[in-house]
Amino acid sequence: MKAKVALLKMHEIDSLYDKVRRRILLLNRAVEGSTELTALREEVEALDQELQTTRTEQQDLELESRSLTERIRESEQNLMSGELHNPRELEALQASIDAMKGQRTDLENRSVERLVMSDSLQGALERKQAALAEIEEEWTIRQAALEKEIDQRKKEYVYLTRAREQVAETLSDANLELYEHLRRRKNGVAVALLEDENCGACHTQVAVGILDNIRYRDELLNCPSCGRILLTED
Ligand SMILES: [Zn+2]
Repeated sequence: MKAKVALLKMHEIDSLYDKVRRRILLLNRAVEGSTELTALREEVEALDQELQTTRTEQQDLELESRSLTERIRESEQNLMSGELHNPRELEALQASIDAMKGQRTDLENRSVERLVMSDSLQGALERKQAALAEIEEEWTIRQAALEKEIDQRKKEYVYLTRAREQVAETLSDANLELYEHLRRRKNGVAVALLEDENCGACHTQVAVGILDNIRYRDELLNCPSCGRILLTED
């Protein structure tokens, strides 16, 4: 294989190789998880937590209210027992009963508020869970497709690696070194194809003398501007 043909082949392989490598990196990141899914899972978790807290508060309020009812009942029995004769004591007991009743009303109101809130949270949670289930399902399908593509791309990667090795073997050490050196320094692209009279990479016009040498002699020449090896496609 002539050096020019081999270099052109290397260039083609490397362009594909870079594309496949970038695609694999992208796919690997994508397959790790979806941000939408993570966000939705967190929302469901937060709603569930809020619902549990509200329910616990409601139950606590109900218990408090019941124990207050018991205390009111005892005080009323005491009031009716006829054992207290001192009007001040009776008055104080009545006042305490009234205060407890007021407190109980407040507890009941707060309990009802939390019941209503629980219902609305429950509804919101169910809707979110349904949305999450749908997205989980979509994600599972997408993940399978991503994994399938990763497998495919990895095979391409292996194939291109081998193809590259085979072409590299046909290049002289000096040319291979030049190619690799330029590839490292020139943003991964060591060669440039001529586009009419211009370098295909940096678009600088190339002098006619150089053009003739590139076209008609088996000589490697670099673009005077960007330094890449200039090649023709045929
Ligand atoms: Zn150039």
